[in-house]
Amino acid sequence: MSSSSPAPAAPVAARVVRCPACGGAARYAVENPYRPFCSARCKGVDFVAWADEHYRVAAAPDLGEDADEPPVR
Ligand SMILES: [Zn+2]
Repeated sequence: MSSSSPAPAAPVAARVVRCPACGGAARYAVENPYRPFCSARCKGVDFVAWADEHYRVAAAPDLGEDADEPPVR
């Protein structure tokens, strides 16, 4: 089955994308477990930001007895 091949310009193994954290070149390959980030550091930074926002949203509407911290807003 090889009738209409997309014929990629670049090999898939060497696919490079832009790191969303630092904007640098990141290898989007199986050998890069931090994809689409370029390194574990960039992935960690993004994860921290996401986790912080997620935690804030999840803990915001809860004003029960577990309100150990003052409301952000
Ligand atoms: Zn990066």
